[in-house]
Amino acid sequence: MSPSLATVSYIGATILFILSLGGLSNPETSRRGNLYGIIGMTIAVLATVFGPRVTMAGIPWIVGAMVVGGAIGLYAARTVQMTQMPELVALMHSLVGLAACLVGFASYIDTSIVFTGAEKAIHEVEIYIGILIGAVTFSGSIIAFGKLSGKIGGKPLLLPARHWLNLLGLLVVIWFGREFLNAHTVVDGMTPLIVMTAIALLFGIHMVMAIGGADMPVVVSMLNSYSGWAAAATGFMLSNDLLIVVGALVGSSGAILSYIMCRAMNRNFISVIAGGFGTGGGAPAAKAGEQPAGEVVAVSAVETAELLRESKDVIIVPGYGMAVAQAQHTVFEITRFLREKGVNVRFGIHPVAGRMPGHMNVLLAEAKVPYDIVLEMDEINADFPNTDVAMVIGANDIVNPAAEDDPASPIAGMPVLQVWKAKTSVVMKRSMASGYAGVDNPLFYKDNNRMLFGDAKKMLDEVLAALKA
Ligand code: NDP
Repeated sequence: MSPSLATVSYIGATILFILSLGGLSNPETSRRGNLYGIIGMTIAVLATVFGPRVTMAGIPWIVGAMVVGGAIGLYAARTVQMTQMPELVALMHSLVGLAACLVGFASYIDTSIVFTGAEKAIHEVEIYIGILIGAVTFSGSIIAFGKLSGKIGGKPLLLPARHWLNLLGLLVVIWFGREFLNAHTVVDGMTPLIVMTAIALLFGIHMVMAIGGADMPVVVSMLNSYSGWAAAATGFMLSNDLLIVVGALVGSSGAILSYIMCRAMNRNFISVIAGGFGTGGGAPAAKAGEQPAGEVVAVSAVETAELLRESKDVIIVPGYGMAVAQAQHTVFEITRFLREKGVNVRFGIHPVAGRMPGHMNVLLAEAKVPYDIVLEMDEINADFPNTDVAMVIGANDIVNPAAEDDPASPIAGMPVLQVWKAKTSVVMKRSMASGYAGVDNPLFYKDNNRMLFGDAKKMLDEVLAALKA
């Protein structure tokens, strides 16, 4: 393929990626957005493999790597459960970081292109920064994977003088950066490069370990952004314009998403990075004397169906438990049944519900719930006082009134869906266990709250059967 055809293909792919991002910003156009992304990526891969920078001798290697990578990707896509998606995404981010590191070392060792003067310095800065971002992304994403899959506890690890440790690490990285740029041979430069990589890996681990359970949504989007910058850095090292543009697109959209997540949780970015928000999973946050008091009132599926049948307005609030139980299809059946009976059923979606941005929207779209009845928290929160039943399906932290009422709560200040303002709220979950942030929930003890204990799918099947009976 001629260089100009490769350039034209890259421009075409870039336009398709931008259209893809535009499409993905709305559930109704997201399928189209996905298609643009697939076509853009196919063009990008073909233009790179058959482009001017790949020799014939390299093709078998690339094809071999693509077959192995493609097979692993296909296997993962087929076997990974919907609830494991957030962990898979974190793992994918780690691979982008790893790739940036490996490309960085490879381009430093590679002697086939000789840079001199300012070009050499620029190339080495690209390598140093590329490996730095890549290593932080790699180790940070591995820890995020551990935290999201529950292999590592959600409790923040707060080392003494941790900010000073980070500052020290930064100074050492800057000092070794100078050493690296002053090195005359590849062998001399390798030591500072390896030391910096080790520090960056430790920093990535330390940064994500220090972040508490409740801040994980921001970490997921932040690492998404880092993976974009790591890809852009790889693009600089390889002088590949498409990779630079795509990396910058992912990096900046991840940064915007982090901002949205921070706003949704009423947190500022710096305090998220500083860490410590939320406690370890399962540990009640309040001190013994401050535990929410009172009785919980349990109801049966039949009683819940009765409540729903007598309602005019119902708001359904789905959370992580709906994803675990895969209850979205039954939720849709119930919604359809009630709407046919004239009940106004709508959905209230918290921005951090579930375990990844947009988690609930994806599940509801999969179950074919109409988009116009799926509303954001800000759009629906004022409507709870005029609602007969607020049905909470496997959600916990996002409906916790302690966020509003208890300044001592670890999630104080986070906006929540005010389900307790409805005439009756019904919380569907298996036990009294806390949610991801590990905070006790006073909602369960409120007079107008009912608990429907059990697996969400099983309980909703029973509710549907009772409704139809
Ligand atoms: P939570 O984790 O707060 O609560 C989920 C609840 O679902 C649990 O209390 C659990 O209770 C219940 N549950 C689990 N399995 C089932 C089941 N099979 N049937 C019925 N109930 C079930 O989830 P929320 O969606 O309310 O809040 C999201 C939390 O995750 C927030 O703390 C957020 O910060 C965090 N987070 C969000 C991310 C994002 O990007 N959206 C990323 C990382 C973290 P029980 O065990 O009693 O059944």
